[in-house]
Amino acid sequence: MEQTILSIFLALFVLQFAIEFGLNELNLRQVAANSANKEIPEAFRGKIEPQDYAKSVEYTLTNGQFQRWAEIYGSAVLLMVLLSGLLGLVDQWSGQWANGSSLGRYGPGIIFCCAVGAILTLTALPTELYSTFGIEAKFGFNKTTIGLYLSDKLKGLVLSLVIGVPFLLVVLWLMDIMGQAWWLWAFAFISAFQLLMIVIFPTFIAPWFNKFEPLKEGELRQRILALAEQIGFKTSGIYSMDGSRRSAHSNAYFTGIGKAKRIVLFDTLIDQMSTDQGLAVLAHEMGHYKMKHIHRMLLVQTVFLIGALFVLSLLIAYPPFFATFGLVQSNHGALVLFSLVAGPFSFYLAPFMSRLSRKHEYEADRFAVKTLRDGAAMEEALINLTVKNLSNLTPHPWYSAYHYSHPTAMERINAIRQLSV
Ligand SMILES: [Zn+2]
Repeated sequence: MEQTILSIFLALFVLQFAIEFGLNELNLRQVAANSANKEIPEAFRGKIEPQDYAKSVEYTLTNGQFQRWAEIYGSAVLLMVLLSGLLGLVDQWSGQWANGSSLGRYGPGIIFCCAVGAILTLTALPTELYSTFGIEAKFGFNKTTIGLYLSDKLKGLVLSLVIGVPFLLVVLWLMDIMGQAWWLWAFAFISAFQLLMIVIFPTFIAPWFNKFEPLKEGELRQRILALAEQIGFKTSGIYSMDGSRRSAHSNAYFTGIGKAKRIVLFDTLIDQMSTDQGLAVLAHEMGHYKMKHIHRMLLVQTVFLIGALFVLSLLIAYPPFFATFGLVQSNHGALVLFSLVAGPFSFYLAPFMSRLSRKHEYEADRFAVKTLRDGAAMEEALINLTVKNLSNLTPHPWYSAYHYSHPTAMERINAIRQLSV
């Protein structure tokens, strides 16, 4: 049986690798071919300098070429962790270590999960470091100092210990005492936990990493207040964030639900945009709020969660699932193993999630244009964002369909031009 499970897993693993690698290759070729004709795409002509276009091509190619090695490396690490017998050793060692201490019934499970988490975090460091301090620095985007990077990592570790460990403890406890229906209890608990995180993240966790301030006095603020009033968005929820501490990339996002909802504009975005453009971006974010996009995404994630927990409840009672990867049957082993092997299966859901997210982006754009009765400002804001972030102007359509959570600037501009205002 173990042989069959292993063959199915490996076949799907290789298929996933081939698809991701292939999409990246297609994208690289498309970008290189387009830049070879020196043609700037129509919507950007006269709006982007030839040297900026050349730089965006170079940035895309550099990232894509690095992606090849990152994918090979990441896949090799995962296979090594799963197939070398490492998990079994870590499990044994965690059990011995916990039993020699006074960590209680769930001690071995907690130590095992933390140890595997530490292995995955450490092995991901080389690609992360090269991306931030190599590529991003080379193109002038990186502003993160080594000191800030280390303090971010330390804060992340503290959060995992303070929030992650108690969370894990409750899940292990539910699995232990709730019998057959444990997965329904775990579902209820994880859903409640997610809701709590959505509420506390913007107000308590994000401010630990960044400074959030109400938007500065001025014309932009005045016009935003008027817009917020018109739409019914509480203005106490509009913030500027010091994104420039870490990166010159610019962005804006809408987060949270209920009283904790926030629209966040990066300081980098405010600096590089005109008032009209800034207002268009804000109207777009208010569109996400108005259309209840966070609620809809949450609903989809809830369906995935219950499906995943149900599958896990079947696997947990099936010893060959553990034996295939050198583990003995246990609740904590099931949790870790399931999260490690799920990729090649859940991979096929990613394009649907990207598609739903892109649908939301179109809706928010439409809302902004209709509300402001101004398509030109939104279009200029999009071009501005694309140029300043050196975004790929000509991604391969299959690549963007799979990976992009936002439609390309071209697609969004075309959609905006079809709206009557
Ligand atoms: Zn959006």
